[in-house]
Amino acid sequence: MNISITLSSAVCKPIVNFQPALTSLLNQHHQQQQQRKDKVVVIMGATGSGKSKLAIDLATHFPPAEIINSDKMQVYKGLDITTNKVTEEECRGVTHHLLSIVDDPNYNFTANDFCHHASLAIDSIVGRDGLPIIAGGSNSFIEALVNHDSTFRARYECCFLWVDVSLPILHSSLSSRVDRMIEAGQLDEVRQFFDHSISDYTRGVRRAIGVPEFDEFLREEGSTYGDQSKKKKLLEAAIAMTKVNNCKLASRQVQKINRLYTIWKKNTYRLNATESVFNKSAWDDDVAAKGRRILQKFLYDDACVLVPAGAPL
Ligand code: ATP
Repeated sequence: MNISITLSSAVCKPIVNFQPALTSLLNQHHQQQQQRKDKVVVIMGATGSGKSKLAIDLATHFPPAEIINSDKMQVYKGLDITTNKVTEEECRGVTHHLLSIVDDPNYNFTANDFCHHASLAIDSIVGRDGLPIIAGGSNSFIEALVNHDSTFRARYECCFLWVDVSLPILHSSLSSRVDRMIEAGQLDEVRQFFDHSISDYTRGVRRAIGVPEFDEFLREEGSTYGDQSKKKKLLEAAIAMTKVNNCKLASRQVQKINRLYTIWKKNTYRLNATESVFNKSAWDDDVAAKGRRILQKFLYDDACVLVPAGAPL
């Protein structure tokens, strides 16, 4: 039996009208795909701005959350005071990944290494239904993971929190921090690490600020006939240089975050932590509480509208 079908214009019209509905369905499907992405929080900020503290605060409020370190010097074993690692007490029971994982002080831990280890950590945290929180000052590591790792982009949706402290205020607080680190035993730590036969500070953990600066002093200290006033001057110069280099690092980090901010604007939220440098009680209102509100919306409210980051301080 032959059946011939003639498509009249009357029949064709409804098909043409399905187009908007089809587009809308495809959009919905795309949105659902987006919504299905697992969520990752990234905390950025210059050295000394309070990233680690915020990460721990948030992890305790959104359990089970675990922290992934993104500081390229804190991945090495040792030099805990010098590289300013969180103490066990400060961790408040929150699991930290990628802290003190590299034994070889000469190994150059690269952005690729970071992407590899951070991706494994994120997968395992998500596998435990936990929230991964990446925190640390190595912006080139964060950029490599988020911008250049296509697997990461396809699987995860990010919220970036930027802990920002006005630079002049941060510089003076970094200077006091170096004094506190010296009081806490930084010099002894670097002394134990010091090796007379090595004068190359361009590799591995030897690049950490607070290591090369003490080289000249430690060499002089080791010499039996060294004069005391020269040693004292060299020590003062090493401490002063450590302060200057920390301030330079902070300025460079802020520049990099400003650049990343122009790329990730939509999902980046700046938390002004300047006041909290003088007034510890401002931390909770200005930084921790705001961070919690932003994460609450990011994690549980898919239709959220968040106030974007303002201009840099
Ligand atoms: P770059 O591209 O310049 O390497 P980055 O964002 O990858 O930048 P940073 O974290 O800014 O990396 O580190 C740059 C340099 O700052 C390090 O090589 C080291 O000298 C110093 N530095 C970084 N973090 C620390 C730290 N926790 N303790 C001591 N020094 C550090």
